[in-house]
Amino acid sequence: MKIAFSWDDGALEDQKLFELHEKYGIPGMFFVPTRNCEGREVLTPEMMRAAESECVRFGGHTENHTYLTSIPLEEVEQEVLLNKVFLEHTLGHEIEDFCLPGGKYTPEILDIVNKHYKTIRTADTMNFKYTGGELKPAIHFYPRGSKSLLGNAIRNRSIPQGAYIALHYKMNYFELVSSLIRNEQRKEDSVVMVWGHSWELEKEHLWGELEKLMKQDFVKKNAVGYQECFRR
Ligand SMILES: [Zn+2]
Repeated sequence: MKIAFSWDDGALEDQKLFELHEKYGIPGMFFVPTRNCEGREVLTPEMMRAAESECVRFGGHTENHTYLTSIPLEEVEQEVLLNKVFLEHTLGHEIEDFCLPGGKYTPEILDIVNKHYKTIRTADTMNFKYTGGELKPAIHFYPRGSKSLLGNAIRNRSIPQGAYIALHYKMNYFELVSSLIRNEQRKEDSVVMVWGHSWELEKEHLWGELEKLMKQDFVKKNAVGYQECFRR
């Protein structure tokens, strides 16, 4: 099993995540839009420069956090590229990883993003394999409830994981997520991408739950850099 963490939107609360990733020595990828049309403040260039390290890396998330399916295809490239240029100017090196705002895309959008980025991540859940192309994550770190986990596992044909959830349906949500991941560690080809938003962690008081997960031996032992998840 490989496990990696990535966080979207570049909210100011990401600074708490920087601390956790450094504390546990676990790599984290942070997708930052240049600004957020939903009105949430984003990290400043100074904050990003100060944070970048072995454990804190940055990727693109569009210029305005615009859902790319909501604008004409001719504008998609601008949204993607302006943010890439901004991040590269801020950090002084190439930015290779991109995350789709709201997880929204079409094949045409992927073609455009692929011209500029090495990797693309969606905002799905309950996917435990990487089969090429855009990466669909395993766990949205948010208390969605067992029903949502089960529904997504079935929709994504993650049958062993769906069966595991059904068997442990009544377990506390984050204990279930943790034991679901622990159960993946014997599977060599399993890819567990955990993703979320620091502003959700703050709103739902999930910092303690996240730290509990990061402390687990099976997480420390199997944590890899973000791009490792795209290697087959
Ligand atoms: Zn986002």
